[in-house]
Amino acid sequence: MKVYLDNAATTPMAKEVIEAMTKVLQEQFGNPSSVHSFGREAKGVLEFARRQVAGYIGAEPKEIIFTSGGTEADNMAISAAIDDLGVTRIISSPIEHHAVGHCLDEANVEIVMVKLTATGAVDMTDLEDLLNNSEAKTLVSLMHANNEIGTLIDPVAISRMCKKYNAYFHSDSVQTMGHYPINVDEFGADFLTCSAHKFHGPKGIGFLYASKDLNVSPMIHGGAQERGLRAGTENISGIVGLAKAMELAHEDMTEHQDHVQGLKTYMMNALKERIPGVNFHGETEPSKSLYTVLNVCFPKFDKQSMLLFLLDLDGVACSGGSACTSGAATGSHVLRGIGADVDRPNARFSFSRYTTKEEIDHTLASIEKIILG
Ligand code: PLP
Repeated sequence: MKVYLDNAATTPMAKEVIEAMTKVLQEQFGNPSSVHSFGREAKGVLEFARRQVAGYIGAEPKEIIFTSGGTEADNMAISAAIDDLGVTRIISSPIEHHAVGHCLDEANVEIVMVKLTATGAVDMTDLEDLLNNSEAKTLVSLMHANNEIGTLIDPVAISRMCKKYNAYFHSDSVQTMGHYPINVDEFGADFLTCSAHKFHGPKGIGFLYASKDLNVSPMIHGGAQERGLRAGTENISGIVGLAKAMELAHEDMTEHQDHVQGLKTYMMNALKERIPGVNFHGETEPSKSLYTVLNVCFPKFDKQSMLLFLLDLDGVACSGGSACTSGAATGSHVLRGIGADVDRPNARFSFSRYTTKEEIDHTLASIEKIILG
């Protein structure tokens, strides 16, 4: 049996998405900037998709800038905050995705890290102190959900705090778009990001939500596409695929959520019963953690450096973070960022609406065989 439990890395595309994209590739191939009928048809498809996507998150179409994915959208948000909004200080966290973290490494402004709890939750008192302690124009960049350990922030509380101290708020929402109902007004962020391949859409397409109240200037220079902010002929089939994936995600969101959360809870309980000494990284309470991600901290065992390899041999695809499982010299910056014991083996299992209980049972049996022998 082959089991794919690495859905936080990427998801299989929905067949309906492939169908919608194929139609565009075959029939609506015009350049949306062309004035003839082929171009106008492609432009119509593009703008319909933009309206659709905006509608799902309560945004205005002009607030959606299509990008090549989550990384580009995160980069754009941070660059726009510094270059256009006059930000000279960024408050972020040590467990952000590299799309944000490495961007901050390059940014020529003051970078301050907020304190986190051992489960990766934001220390709100520390955040308020940081916001209160400086006159500098500040951007708070904190991800909606962590891709490795699943911990969610409280966006409403953070955006209120940002407004109180006149700070901008960017949230990398790549792991939550298409998984949770998001309304930009309730969320309260100035910038949000999305990547289609995290919810059964295609790779290489995403968007930046940038609030209409912001005055941002062109980010990629060239033609007048994306309101002149991001030049280049649009990836129409990808955009249509993104919109279709969003539509499917919103169709039965509660059912998907209940199904996947049920599998996660089942797997957690079974691991606790069957693997002595097991525990979990990050928050585990459903309201505080991604229902799609379970980061397991296993007890030490002889072949622990081979854990992911042995699971893969048994047909189970998942991913790992700590130095001993990933082979990386430095290990997971997220696990280090929350002060986790990285000498213990860990694995991230991430689920999708297509994951079945049989697959979880197969995975549990594999884990038991590998760890307990
Ligand atoms: N942010 C988070 C939290 C992610 O999980 C990812 C994907 O790995 C990204 C950003 C980058 O998205 P993309 O692969 O579309 O560039």
